[in-house]
Amino acid sequence: MQTYDVVIMGAGMSGLCMAVALKKAGMQRFVVIEKSAGLGGTWWDNRYPGAHVDVPAPLYSFSFAPNPKWTRRFAAAAEIQAYMADVAQRFGVLEHFQFNTQVSAARFDEAQGCWNVDIKEPHQAGKTLKAQFFVCSTGPLSKPRWPDIPQLRRFGGVLMHTARWDTQQPLKGQRIGIIGTGSTAAQLVAPLADQASHLTVFQRTPAWVLPRADRRYGRIDHWVARRPWLHAAVRKGWYELLEWGRKGFDEGTAARSTLMRTAQTHLWRQVRDDTLREQLTPKMPLGCKRLIYASDYYPALSRPHVALVTTAIKHATSSGLVTTDGKAHKLDVLVCATGFDVQHSLAHVPIVGTAGRSLDEAWAEAPQAHLGLTVAGFPNLFLMLGPNTATGHTSTLLFIEPAVQWVLKAMQAVQDRGQRSIVVKAEAMQAFNQQLQQRLQAAVWNQCNNWYRADNGRNIAIWPGFTNDYVNAVRRQPFEDFDFG
Ligand code: NAP
Repeated sequence: MQTYDVVIMGAGMSGLCMAVALKKAGMQRFVVIEKSAGLGGTWWDNRYPGAHVDVPAPLYSFSFAPNPKWTRRFAAAAEIQAYMADVAQRFGVLEHFQFNTQVSAARFDEAQGCWNVDIKEPHQAGKTLKAQFFVCSTGPLSKPRWPDIPQLRRFGGVLMHTARWDTQQPLKGQRIGIIGTGSTAAQLVAPLADQASHLTVFQRTPAWVLPRADRRYGRIDHWVARRPWLHAAVRKGWYELLEWGRKGFDEGTAARSTLMRTAQTHLWRQVRDDTLREQLTPKMPLGCKRLIYASDYYPALSRPHVALVTTAIKHATSSGLVTTDGKAHKLDVLVCATGFDVQHSLAHVPIVGTAGRSLDEAWAEAPQAHLGLTVAGFPNLFLMLGPNTATGHTSTLLFIEPAVQWVLKAMQAVQDRGQRSIVVKAEAMQAFNQQLQQRLQAAVWNQCNNWYRADNGRNIAIWPGFTNDYVNAVRRQPFEDFDFG
């Protein structure tokens, strides 16, 4: 059996950050297991036309790895993947990644204080890796959610989910339908409108859309990125601006009225048709679902060969979709931009902790963790971007880096104390979650249906505070809240 100090599942941003941190700390015995054929995680999966990040590039780079090569303020998926490959190369961790390999199960061995991680490589019998620590860095947005539309599989054309995009699929001149109008669809509509002979966008809920102030990066930006103190100042500027934006989620703030006015003006300026504008006017409170940043979405919806359908979908047929008004929408390609199953994002991998209890059982009602990082009953298991670490306002990397540093500290504490394992106390996790849910109760994120909440209504996704609140809470969490064994 191959033995490691750490097995990491997932080669996205957090898996990469963890790998770099382990290498820097001199821990060489680790492996990153990734189901896909390359680095990227969400940026590998989401290859739909127009996929890009909506956080400015200086903040969507690791603090320890500025990138003097960004070509735009809002980087495209392929460019982010290239950046990740560059970071892996620069920090010498590439050899630790094992691609095209699935983690099929993981069990904590209480007698030995370590994890047995089953993996499945292509065309080979499964095998088990042994590791003291197991890091799940698959993130909450990894399992595509298909829409619950009757007879969807009867559709005889091409059916795609945006998170499993087939880049070989010809789209030119096709009649294309998109289900959904979230962040993904808003990026996809304009590029698909350029290719389709006819594009139908099926909207259930109109979103709040803010302009995306994108621009090309040139020589000056690259010059700045090569000077650490200047780059840090630019990064800090973006950080502060986005933290100000966080206030926009709180009722009665100047930031909130500014964001609402900006979105309303954006809609009014870009959509001149009264009926279309009314259809696109959000009825839910701003920020309840993820804010969308797009400057080409509304203009694309106004094009003559693009139709916005707001009548509910009744069922699919072999040739398209039928809406509840009886109208048949003929399609060659049907794209589901319907998001992710956040509640069950880890359900496909049986992860079994102490007393034979699985994570699925522990999370039967809804996922919860301590600061999104550790779960009672699961020693030496660390989650990256676990429950309640998402924000609607800034870069996830600002949450990943302190989390990774704390995980290293925890691993070190286990070794320094001559112990084999660390696990959060159930009462500490419970107290943390009680406080968190109280804080979320009246917050805007709990005021509509969204992927932030589980079936029982519990908010399983959002960190309600500012970035620094999280960073400080993670850094300062006392080891008294943990049991060592
Ligand atoms: P999403 O926000 O969950 O949106 C899914 C869309 O599909 C919604 O408009 C939803 O309508 C619609 N939908 C779902 N089931 C439907 C059905 N049966 N019939 C009709 N419509 C249906 O998913 P997403 O757009 O993929 O975004 C998910 C998250 O990914 C975002 O919130 C964001 O965190 C992340 N993301 C980030 C970026 C970035 O630039 N950083 C880009 C893309 C995505 P309802 O609203 O009515 O439910």
